Amino acid sequence: MISEELSPVTDIDIRALAEIYDEQDVYLSVYLPVSGRENEHLNRIFVDSRFSAIKKALDPDLRSEFEKTFEMAESSVFDEPISGEKGRIIFASSKESFLHVYRLAVEPEQSFVLDTSPYLLPLAKLRADYEDYGVLLVDSREARFTCIRSDIAEEKKHLSTDLMNKHKKGGWSQMRFNHLRKGAIKSFLSEVADNVQGTCDQLQTRGFVLAGPGEAKQHLMEILPQEVQQKVLGVVDVPIDIPEDELVEAGDAVLQENEKSKSRSAAEELKSEILKGGLAVYGIEDVKASLEQARVNTLLIIKDSSVPGWLCERCQNLQSNSKPPKECERCGGPTSTVDVVEELYELAQRTGANVEFVEKEDFLDSDDVVGALLRY
Ligand SMILES: [Zn+2]
Repeated sequence: MISEELSPVTDIDIRALAEIYDEQDVYLSVYLPVSGRENEHLNRIFVDSRFSAIKKALDPDLRSEFEKTFEMAESSVFDEPISGEKGRIIFASSKESFLHVYRLAVEPEQSFVLDTSPYLLPLAKLRADYEDYGVLLVDSREARFTCIRSDIAEEKKHLSTDLMNKHKKGGWSQMRFNHLRKGAIKSFLSEVADNVQGTCDQLQTRGFVLAGPGEAKQHLMEILPQEVQQKVLGVVDVPIDIPEDELVEAGDAVLQENEKSKSRSAAEELKSEILKGGLAVYGIEDVKASLEQARVNTLLIIKDSSVPGWLCERCQNLQSNSKPPKECERCGGPTSTVDVVEELYELAQRTGANVEFVEKEDFLDSDDVVGALLRY
């Protein structure tokens, strides 16, 4: 599956990817920022050095499998970016004849990993940072509703009214004119309000940013139905003719602030549940056990954390902070080195748990790396 157009990260079926694994290290995952000549150069150096390092560390039979996999993925790795493409994700395994290529309008950090399954943590972080949202850009005579999915903007609705033309004629006094104008603005804004509800219901976004110059957006806010008001992620002051990329930037800033406060409050909830001995656990062992019992409602992970360990791909025995033994101590199956945090994330995906990435300073104890709010 190779996409030839830009994909929002929310369109990538991460749950299906989390179901995939092999007993051996046969899945190559590549994340690259691809815009600009500079990146092209840096990517080549990075990919070459990771390719040789991995080759050196593999047994001969896996080495030739890896070379085949890379050969299969190589043209997708170094392909010219399409218009607007800023990042690319490639999952490949020649053994499984598996090749997924996603072109993104957002930038991932460089990563080149060979593992028993597609490496999903960087994708998970992108999905946390780039949820789908709407922007309603409004002034007293114009309203545009734009849907933004991973920085790909698509206008969904455009309403306008021509106040000046409607009321230009006639010998009205300034006062009468102002009065009529106010009335016209009011009725325009209530038309907008009616439309927002419908547009929001159609698009399954988390919410929308209310943007525009002057007071119109505040007036609109006041007349929005309560349930729509609750979907407003933030209000920003921008010119009505703002270029699309700047609108996306302003919207992203609001979304990221909103996301931060969401993960902060999850971290707060974890703390208070633990204090009162409620439905929460922390630390790798307890979180792992709860995930295996499908009791986790929300998995909390400290941003950019990783914990070395190993996994038995036969019985899923997962051990942290130790080197893999030749054979699994439980079932004798093959073991492989893993990032335990990635494995916990995949478990969360398979059991339908939410995931929040939290800042180190918001977490109870940064040594614990993970915590979980439980269903029961
Ligand atoms: Zn085992």
